[in-house]
Amino acid sequence: MKTNERDLLELQLIEMRKRLLHEVDLADEARWDVMAKSGEFSTLPRHAADPDLEGLDGQVAISLNEQSLLEQVETAIERLQMGTYGVCQECECKIGMERLQAVPYTALCIACALKEHAQIKKRLFGDPRYRW
Ligand SMILES: [Zn+2]
Repeated sequence: MKTNERDLLELQLIEMRKRLLHEVDLADEARWDVMAKSGEFSTLPRHAADPDLEGLDGQVAISLNEQSLLEQVETAIERLQMGTYGVCQECECKIGMERLQAVPYTALCIACALKEHAQIKKRLFGDPRYRW
């Protein structure tokens, strides 16, 4: 990997981490906000389909997504510092520059990512919550 390409990716990852840390913070705040407004802290009975509560579910989903993305970004930065960045964690082949530029925090080459995706799909297959 060329030094300038590596530096650019590192910069991208650091920017991503900054943005995600900020967003996880905001999502946490919003969650408390929605909880307070939806009467989470009151003793009043509430309807199951309370739109504010659906908002809460949405917020939890967003912050979970961002936390897992943040973890991936952080391990990618660690790999950059250890010099193992750009190497597939599964098959140890080099991850293509195009893929790294598109998904700088990826730990897998495209072939392994597709394989993993197929396995997740298989695991979830039959689960009515997931329709692909
Ligand atoms: Zn691989």
